[in-house]
Amino acid sequence: SQLINQIAAGEVVERPASVVKELLENAFDAGADQIQVDIEQGGLRLIKIRDNGSGIDKEDLKLALARHATSKIASLDDLEHVASMGFRGEALASISSVARVSLISRKHDADCAWKIVADGREVDTEPQPDPHPPGTTVAVQDLFFNTPARRKFLKSDKTEFGHIETLIKRMALSRFDVGLTLTHNQKELLKLKPALDVKTQQQRLAHVLSADFIANAVACNSAASEMQLTGWIGLPAFSRSQQDMQFFYVNNRLVKDKLVAHAIKQAYQDVLHLSRHPVFVLYLSVDPALVDVNAHPTKLEVRFREGRLVHDFLFSAIHKTLADVRP
Ligand code: ADP
Ligand code: MG
Repeated sequence: SQLINQIAAGEVVERPASVVKELLENAFDAGADQIQVDIEQGGLRLIKIRDNGSGIDKEDLKLALARHATSKIASLDDLEHVASMGFRGEALASISSVARVSLISRKHDADCAWKIVADGREVDTEPQPDPHPPGTTVAVQDLFFNTPARRKFLKSDKTEFGHIETLIKRMALSRFDVGLTLTHNQKELLKLKPALDVKTQQQRLAHVLSADFIANAVACNSAASEMQLTGWIGLPAFSRSQQDMQFFYVNNRLVKDKLVAHAIKQAYQDVLHLSRHPVFVLYLSVDPALVDVNAHPTKLEVRFREGRLVHDFLFSAIHKTLADVRP
């Protein structure tokens, strides 16, 4: 039923930033290397994401918004199951049950783009032609317009936009190959070119973290038999030490993990006697069999099969990197 769909949507669409996350992932999946994100009023009024990816066929447009698993959700137990498994094939359907969604898309070999609109109900109109270039634009307006109880849980535009900005920064550091533009209320806040060489990568780091991060950071590159760590770590001269400047990716997925935080902090304390929050952008590659990232798809948790091993590897990698640069 529509009610169940809306409850299900509540599980995946917690706030505007969760919509942005799903739409960005779809654009990445479509192979886009240029993505434009336009936000109005913290995402409550508008979230618009345009990509130059593969596009969707006219015939598949309605399907993209159609429900698959949620239509089978009959009880709260089912709902819990879906929430813990992730909403594969459900994001657009869920979003379109709680917002006014327009979807415009054009395959690269198609003569024109096609557009459909959904406003909280199943789409019952045919796609209309549209002059959109190859790729896809999804516009999500008036989030939770038909679920006022949900809408009441949202914070101010500023707070909601803050969540979106944090998310975009995390995504920007996980996909250097994709160009990203972000506007809020028509003001351009971020414009990142695809960063394929070291120089543009450093520019991106400067934009996302701060200009003096690169001047006061050291590259980290360490490998053990089953693990590899790359990235950058901040030196004490980089004064803007804040907890929100800690980026740690496991197999390119951002995670927040106590064990990771502990290993890094210990290394900083050991070498530099630094007790502030260290700043880092680190990428850990591990055998996927050693890590369980599916704990909850919308959370940032991770479970390592060999926690001790990971901890010790991280500690010695950071320790060595810091010890090498210490005068
Ligand atoms: P999922 O990503 O899990 O398949 P979604 O609801 O997020 O489910 O998207 C449904 C489908 O719509 C996708 O499988 C894809 O085929 C299509 N789609 C969505 N967004 C895009 C996009 N930006 N570009 C191309 N295809 C898209
Ligand atoms: Mg998706």
